[in-house]
Amino acid sequence: MGCDVSETGAGTPFILSLGSNMGDRLAHLERGIRHLARAVSIEAVSTVVESPVWAPSPPQPDFLNLVLRGRTDRDARGLLELAQSAEHSAGRVRSVRRGPRTLDVDIIFFGSEVIDSPELTVPHPRWSERPFVFHLVPEVAGEMVEPGTGERLRDLLPTGPIPPEIVPVAGSSTSWRITTGTRARD
Ligand code: AMP
Repeated sequence: MGCDVSETGAGTPFILSLGSNMGDRLAHLERGIRHLARAVSIEAVSTVVESPVWAPSPPQPDFLNLVLRGRTDRDARGLLELAQSAEHSAGRVRSVRRGPRTLDVDIIFFGSEVIDSPELTVPHPRWSERPFVFHLVPEVAGEMVEPGTGERLRDLLPTGPIPPEIVPVAGSSTSWRITTGTRARD
C-alpha cells in the first residue's frame, strides 16, 4: 500500500499514472514526482509495481508504474502541460510510437470532468483496461468519484491482491513520504 494524506487542500483533485521502462526506472519516477510536486500538491502515491508492456505496443522492457492523487488550481490542459514537461525533464524522446520511454505521465481523472478533445481525453480512455491502473487507483482514490456513475472509485473497483503479472516493487510502499504539499523519497 502506498502513502496518503488528508484531503484538505483547495483545487481540483486528479489522478495521474506514471511509468518508465528505460534507464534507471525508479529514478525517473522519483524525478517525475518531484517535478510535478513543484507545481501541484501531491496527496497520495501508490505502491510501485513492475508489469509487462500491454498490447498493442512493440516488444520492450517491463515498466515500473505508479499512480498518484494530487490537487491543483490549474485546469486540465494546464495539468497536461505540466505532465508533458515532467516527461520532457526525464529526457523523453518520442522516436518509436508506443515504444520504450524514460517517463510517461497520463491524466487518468481530473475531478469529475469528462473531456474529449483532440489533445486530451479524460477520464483516460483505457484506464480500466490497464491492469496496473485499475488495481492501483483504489490505493489513492480517496473520495474521488467515477464521473459517469458518481460512485466512489475506491468502492467501484476491486481491491485485494494484485494479479500475478503485476509485481509490487520491494520496499516501494514505504519508500515515499509526504512533506507539506509535496512528497519526497526517504
Ligand atoms: P503518449 O504517447 O501515450 O504519452 O500520448 C501522448 C499524447 O496523448 C499527447 O499528445 C496528449 O495530448 C494525448 N492525450 C490524450 N489524452 C491524454 C491523457 N488523458 N493523458 C495524457 N495524454 C493524453
